[in-house]
Amino acid sequence: MSDEGGICPNCGLPIDLCVCETIAQEEARITVTVERRKWGRLTTVVEGFDKTIDLGDLATKLKGKLACGGAAKHGHVELQGDHRGTITAVLAKLGFPEEMVQVDWSFTGRKRR
Ligand SMILES: [Zn+2]
Repeated sequence: MSDEGGICPNCGLPIDLCVCETIAQEEARITVTVERRKWGRLTTVVEGFDKTIDLGDLATKLKGKLACGGAAKHGHVELQGDHRGTITAVLAKLGFPEEMVQVDWSFTGRKRR
């Protein structure tokens, strides 16, 4: 987006015609959802990371920055508590652009409707 008028290094098309960025965004979509677990504990689930990402390492960094417990599990990261308000900025610092991150705000932590 920044170098308008250029040629895409990926597909060789003018940036105007190139859809690589759109495709990449659709593929690389990190979703953040909150679930209620045992004993009413809220857990933030972050998923959609590329398979090349070291989730154990990422979980450690997220836990440190958010000062919470958590773990990497089967292709996603779980963090104790509701971190939807801060996780986008934290992920951005770790190299995941905000536009890649989709936060699901539908869960309010209240009783089911
Ligand atoms: Zn392209």
